[in-house]
Amino acid sequence: MRKQIAAANWKMNLSQNEAESLMDQLLASDFNLSLNQSAIFAVPAIYIPLAIQKLSGKQNVFVAAQNCHQKTNGAYTGEISAPMFASIGVQHIILGHSERRTYFNESDALLAEKTEAVLAVGSTPIFCCGEPLEIREAGTQNGFVDAQLKNALFQLSAEQIVKVVIAYEPIWAIGTGKTATSEQAQDIHAYIRSVFAAKYGQDIADQISILYGGSVKASNANEIFSQPDVDGGLVGGASLIATEFAAIIKALK
Ligand code: PEP
Repeated sequence: MRKQIAAANWKMNLSQNEAESLMDQLLASDFNLSLNQSAIFAVPAIYIPLAIQKLSGKQNVFVAAQNCHQKTNGAYTGEISAPMFASIGVQHIILGHSERRTYFNESDALLAEKTEAVLAVGSTPIFCCGEPLEIREAGTQNGFVDAQLKNALFQLSAEQIVKVVIAYEPIWAIGTGKTATSEQAQDIHAYIRSVFAAKYGQDIADQISILYGGSVKASNANEIFSQPDVDGGLVGGASLIATEFAAIIKALK
């Protein structure tokens, strides 16, 4: 059975006190995860040790990074590498979030390198893809996402691709309050799975978790997560509110 995942992306938010208080509230909400479920917290890098200390006692809870550098080490001032994250116990790294693609010019070629860097240390890339509004309005979202996946991931072997988690995030739904309908999410998730099936075979494609991201909240998580090809969510705004994110975790299949 595929892993069902609720992933929180805190982005560049919260002071350390606020981060600690949010984690305390989450722990008090007493969510439980079954064997095939995970909750992943991509906190600002500076809070990772604190988050590991506070959350790692919980079964199937992981602390993630929001990005990493593609090289292992060297003269790259201000950057953090995948081996560095691995050395402090981080096993998941978000890659290619649309904000990084837009504000930091991250290309598919760069993301191919980053993906390999994360896999090389045995960690899990949470690889983001998704189209802007004009592409959705033109009805060409499948081709757009197809190119993102092929350009960044198709150099991977079958053994590697099953270790990647995909997050489909339509850019027009991120932080806008506009959510894809559950039907739109299912359609493109099924399409993404078919892209992997065509390249790696159905068996492999069926093992890849595909998360939906874009204004997921407690009130819509159940319906979105109930779709057969939606394996959970990557959550921004609602992950900063303990009651919301706890309810989103509880909505996992
Ligand atoms: C995100 O940034 O990954 C995201 C999905 O944000 P939000 O949930 O706020 O739309």
